[in-house]
Amino acid sequence: MSENKNLDIASKCVHAGVGEYEHGPVVPPIYQTSTFKFESAEHGGSLFKGEQKGYIYTRMQNPTVEAMEDTVAALEGGYKALGCASGMAAIHTVFAALLHAGDHVVCSKSVYGPTSTLLASVMSNFNIATTFVNTSDIKKVEEAIKPNTKIIYIETPGNPTLETTDLELVSELARKNNIQVVVDNTFMSPVLQRPFEFGADIVVHSMTKFLNGHADVVAGIIVVKDKETYSHFRKTLNQIGGVIDPFNSFLVHRGIKTLAIRMKKHSENAMKIADFLESHPKIDWVRYPGLKSFPNYDVAQKQHDAPGGMISFELKGGLEAGKVVMNNVKFCQLAVSLGGVETLIQHPASMTHLTMGKEARESAGITDGLVRLSVGIEHVDDIIDDLKQALEKA
Ligand SMILES: *Cc1c(COP(=O)(O)O)cnc(C)c1O
Repeated sequence: MSENKNLDIASKCVHAGVGEYEHGPVVPPIYQTSTFKFESAEHGGSLFKGEQKGYIYTRMQNPTVEAMEDTVAALEGGYKALGCASGMAAIHTVFAALLHAGDHVVCSKSVYGPTSTLLASVMSNFNIATTFVNTSDIKKVEEAIKPNTKIIYIETPGNPTLETTDLELVSELARKNNIQVVVDNTFMSPVLQRPFEFGADIVVHSMTKFLNGHADVVAGIIVVKDKETYSHFRKTLNQIGGVIDPFNSFLVHRGIKTLAIRMKKHSENAMKIADFLESHPKIDWVRYPGLKSFPNYDVAQKQHDAPGGMISFELKGGLEAGKVVMNNVKFCQLAVSLGGVETLIQHPASMTHLTMGKEARESAGITDGLVRLSVGIEHVDDIIDDLKQALEKA
């Protein structure tokens, strides 16, 4: 099944990566084992030499993990994938595999917080410098490139502003300068955006979000396009050790089976909610890739198969209004994270980014009235009714 490249992505979500197993199970079994027996000394030797395919030790590879990895690789149109303990473990493994002391990274300014901290406060200790720019402006990307730039790291749509970067333009620029383009595709999932189709070199995901989709697993993945990169990354991941475990792989693989219908429903719901919010008198602006008013609407139309489940909006009443809405929603749940079947709402200025201070927040594009909504797959009227009553109190 996994070899059939002509299947629709919805069919791939159900069938890709599923191999043949003893007793003929329809679903790959959970190989909850840390290690695998060798038939003989010779067999063990040939596995270690790589002459024969087989499993040795779960940090190196495990059949349950590999089945899930092959599914994500097929969805992204990549060669192979590497399951990681979290999205951050995946991102760290990519940096460790590609960067050396003295190298430079260009990174989207609108990026997941811990990614920017990893570059600015951890990788910097290894003499790796980063320039953060608005990557939706290709001129800014071009200006930021230095002779030692090795990676352009793009999150698109970016967190939490939904700033959208033209991957084709960035990849063309990167190719001319011998730079690798790494894309964090967490917000769209491969059902709605496949960065390799636009020239990217490496794709990463926090599978904690849409890929698993049920808010019950923390996991990440790296997808690569060729055998050499795969083998180098596999060695690096094996040495760093941030691998996913078989049970979490099983859960994510199970989640992916419904990814295509979930993304469709997230997008349909979010489109209706974005329209509702845009016409609401207490709201200043709404950012949603499906709205004609979206600043990068044309790029979004080109790159996305549907607009996705993430919405940002600005309350006219600022910080206080944000708190009131947070304290009055009854159906939407007040929590960080995103991409699950349940609708989650978050107000960065009073919660996640409170300690950052107003000035630092604003320079990162996080205004006082900014609310981020991860639209779930519930009935859209229940979500709108809840937002309506909470906004009335603001
Ligand atoms: C959540 C998230 C991450 C980090 O993933 P974890 O699984 O929490 O480690 C990275 N990038 C984006 C865009 C995210 O939303």
